[in-house]
Amino acid sequence: MKALLIVLDGLSVEVVERGLREGRLPTLERLGGVGATGILRSAVPPDTAAAMASLLTGSGPGRHGVFSLLIPEARNGLLRVRPAQYADIRVPTLFDYSARTRTSMAAFGIPLLSPVPEPPGGFAVPGFASAPGSKARPAWVDEWLEDAGFEDDVPRSFYGLDPHDQARILRERMRLTVDLFLQLVEGLKSPPRISILWLPETDRAGHTIWDHRELMLKVYEEADRVVSRLVDHYGLDETVIVVTGDHGFTSRLSEFFPNYLLLRHGLLKLRGKILPALKRITSLLAEWLVETSRAVWNLAIGKGFISERERERLAIRLASRLVLDYPDIDLSKSLAFSISDLAPYGMIYTPRDILNPPVGEDRLREEQDLLSRLKEIEGLERFVDELIPGSRVYGTSCPGAPAILFKTARGYSPVGRLSASVRGPSRASSGGMHDIISPIFIAGPGVPAGRLDRVVGIEDVFPTLLSLAGLPLWRGLQGRPVLGQAEGEVDLARVAASRAIRRRLRPRR
Ligand SMILES: [Zn+2]
Repeated sequence: MKALLIVLDGLSVEVVERGLREGRLPTLERLGGVGATGILRSAVPPDTAAAMASLLTGSGPGRHGVFSLLIPEARNGLLRVRPAQYADIRVPTLFDYSARTRTSMAAFGIPLLSPVPEPPGGFAVPGFASAPGSKARPAWVDEWLEDAGFEDDVPRSFYGLDPHDQARILRERMRLTVDLFLQLVEGLKSPPRISILWLPETDRAGHTIWDHRELMLKVYEEADRVVSRLVDHYGLDETVIVVTGDHGFTSRLSEFFPNYLLLRHGLLKLRGKILPALKRITSLLAEWLVETSRAVWNLAIGKGFISERERERLAIRLASRLVLDYPDIDLSKSLAFSISDLAPYGMIYTPRDILNPPVGEDRLREEQDLLSRLKEIEGLERFVDELIPGSRVYGTSCPGAPAILFKTARGYSPVGRLSASVRGPSRASSGGMHDIISPIFIAGPGVPAGRLDRVVGIEDVFPTLLSLAGLPLWRGLQGRPVLGQAEGEVDLARVAASRAIRRRLRPRR
């Protein structure tokens, strides 16, 4: 039996429920009628990087080591952040599994997929935020996609467009991606045993047009239509199909800039005096600057002289030079800092986390110290729901994990500004915010109809899918099948060890 996972990035419980109530999502309704429906719990924090790694490994961030889209690193005493990538995963993945067991697999649009693995009997297409230069494998797939004009994400300029245009572009993109995906699958010698298709458009809609209820539903209607095409192509009688999000979406009720608070209470210090002050002023104008510099480029250089993409890149570089950024943080004088987060979960690191990761008792003591300092900050409880020392969620054994995790209270109004947040998320958009829960639909042979009586952890998704498809699991999984009977276990220790060696040999970025 085949297995197909359709990830609609940032699929929102609220919007799906509304769409189902209004009878506008017939395919999801049909899947719910013949199969099992329920709630998926994403990774904590609910971030695409952590969620991607949890899906592909059947484990939580504490085991696979990917906590966030951005990974803090100290280089020459400066704090830098870099995007997490597939290479950062520390445990066996579904790609290792497919290579080891020679299970054919087609994976399309997997975010942050660098380096790109080559699954047997299929293909892997890197999705958004994959390291520059990541190419689909095998090579014919890359050439073919290039000819077809496939782009893994919306261009930056998308975020400045009118909401109606944004919705239209997202719908077109979904249609095109599914066309390309199905043509690629058709081009294979035989249908892949495991398929994953990851569509980012529902997430992009959540970030931009969340407040436009009708437009949001229009994007979801299109998602429903493309799911219908996939279901027809794969056939519910011979494929187990899961449709879910990597995380959900909800209203932006509890936006919060941790660095603003840390800065105000002296826990975070900036380097130098004049430059950060200047930057703080200019960064108030940062978004405006990105917009205007685009216009200035157009005026000064004229269309066609340099590509739109190049203009955008230059404009963003210019603007980001003037925005208060991570390298402005003085690590030697700071006690804590946070990296930006799109979710109602904040993460706080200590400089020692990255300079010299504390272990065991040391780590616990530092977390306790930091926690008690944060608790001294007047009114913190007003907006922080829970302060969860990172160890409780991640396990003290995991280096690189944030020292403290917290969840912001619902209904909290924004604190601080972009300027002092050290690149907090923008408040200008009419976007929503990542949510921890997402809907999940499981249908296919042997799947009982009805509501699941337990929440499905994101690490349970592949164990469940493999079990239902009559495939073995692999040893060391944290997730468990919520349905189906596992066909034994395979050992991936050797494959994982060779990946770890490759990771160490990887050139530093
Ligand atoms: Zn997102």
